[in-house]
Amino acid sequence: MQLTHEDFVRVSAVADEIPSLGPWRPVIADLATLLGTGADSSAARRARVHPQDALIASGRTSRTPPVQPFALCPPERLARCRGVLTDIDDTLTEHGVLMPEALAALHRLRELGLPTIAITGRPMGWSEPFARAWPVDAIVAENGAVALFREAGDLCIEYAQDDATRRANAQRLQEVLARIVHEVPGASAARDSAGRVTDIAIDHSEFVHLPGAAIERVVALMRSEGMEATVSSIHVNGWFGTHDKRSGARWIVSRLLGRELDAERDDWLYVGDSTNDQVMFGCFPMSVGVANLMRFAAELTVWPAYLAEGERGNGFAQVVEAIAAVRAQP
Ligand SMILES: [Mg+2]
Repeated sequence: MQLTHEDFVRVSAVADEIPSLGPWRPVIADLATLLGTGADSSAARRARVHPQDALIASGRTSRTPPVQPFALCPPERLARCRGVLTDIDDTLTEHGVLMPEALAALHRLRELGLPTIAITGRPMGWSEPFARAWPVDAIVAENGAVALFREAGDLCIEYAQDDATRRANAQRLQEVLARIVHEVPGASAARDSAGRVTDIAIDHSEFVHLPGAAIERVVALMRSEGMEATVSSIHVNGWFGTHDKRSGARWIVSRLLGRELDAERDDWLYVGDSTNDQVMFGCFPMSVGVANLMRFAAELTVWPAYLAEGERGNGFAQVVEAIAAVRAQP
């Protein structure tokens, strides 16, 4: 692949736009040196970047990520789209706030009549006001454990686990949380913990920075206690039970639409940004990562089929625009 000078400018812009580059920081530094401008280049700040270029241009990776630019998603495939599933944090939001581009895209999906369901590791309590306010059919929170949706004007909250199971797990969850905070230096409960019903969460990038080794210790400790554990862009989540984002998606599609998601999975689109979206990337052939997914390139074992050019809500909006465009064609 032959890269132009403009490509390198666009690549160096990544250094300014991604606060936590992790293993890619030296790659970007190399490219900035090649440019002779450094990461403070005003041209770089103005430029846009396609994240795949950063990987390929670096020469530091022995493999090209097994993902295509979203622009290559066949229109006929988008035309068959029967619904959209999406992560929330750093897919629709930036710094925890819904981006206006993402909100406009959610409204567009509603205009198109496409079922839209947000699936997140955030807690039930955090999700409640958004399930009332956002133009989505439902929010599935706590990694598939609880669904929030409106019915006849009222907000309904339903759990994947029965009352007795949740009660039995509640004390164990708090015991594991206390052990993690005690044993892993720097580990603290996520600030949204008060709204959590079925899981616990350790903050690693929302309000504090927890080093990678500590994140691994938290995950290992959760698993040693018999919990499922995943790492989102901001938290490490742990819970008891077999549910996950995929089972939560199946459940809510059946509950709200009376349809079997597995029978339609070729025609549902999923958008995500992090390692805790891998179960969904692997499930849906029409899966898309927003561009900031690349910050987890070193940790990903399951990639989405496509990568949007834009980060966060801009990437999500790009996906929705493409769906709307094919639907507008005669
Ligand atoms: Mg996320």
